[in-house]
Amino acid sequence: MRYAVLSDVHANIEALGEVLKDVHGRNVEGVLFLGDAVGYGPDPNEAVSALGKNCSVLLAGNHDRAALGLADIESFNPVAKAAILWTAEALSEENKLALKRMPIMEAVKKDDILLVHSTPKSPEEWHYLLTFADAEDNFGHFIQRICLLGHSHMPFIVERLPGGELHIHKGKCAFQEGSRYIVNAGSVGQPRDRDSRACYALLDDEGVELIRVAYRVAETQRKMKKAGLPEPLIERLSLGM
Ligand code: ZN
Repeated sequence: MRYAVLSDVHANIEALGEVLKDVHGRNVEGVLFLGDAVGYGPDPNEAVSALGKNCSVLLAGNHDRAALGLADIESFNPVAKAAILWTAEALSEENKLALKRMPIMEAVKKDDILLVHSTPKSPEEWHYLLTFADAEDNFGHFIQRICLLGHSHMPFIVERLPGGELHIHKGKCAFQEGSRYIVNAGSVGQPRDRDSRACYALLDDEGVELIRVAYRVAETQRKMKKAGLPEPLIERLSLGM
């Protein structure tokens, strides 16, 4: 197997464009998308159609569901809520239909992989997997060797050794016999680990690597300003948080 794994694009077409360019040079057999095509960013229609054209598997995230009126936005902070209402207005019927067709969890049986936006334990509750305790708990809720997820916009790789011990890997990790893995692919369109560059994961039989790609942040910010999207969402892109 050899896949590019993308998550949390959030309607940022400049970031998505640079990531897809980077992916094209890497000879992958498919691009897997883990959800949140829209929300926060200025180009929801362009993001949904580019993902539809380039990905072999597409999941929906909580922002995609919220933009369709299918997830509660009461738990969203005020700026996220404002962006979702703007997104719901901006999305075409065709792209709404495309988002509606996306599941929130899917297994790729031949590669022993589970894909989910939030957590394998409770995919519909949109919890975050952030701590060792969360990882420990979630390893008990999927049977595959590898679980790929997003949602927190914090890239990481957690390995569970055959004895049950957990190891965290930062940038890359070579797969070991008998170990299982949870990989957070980070965020293409709104990274939150204090690195403003787009993030995605490259996965093959040997291991997994988190890749960073620079994009024109100022161009996305200009479009957000023009669309009247909330200022804190514009600022956070240059900070990577
Ligand atoms: Zn997200």
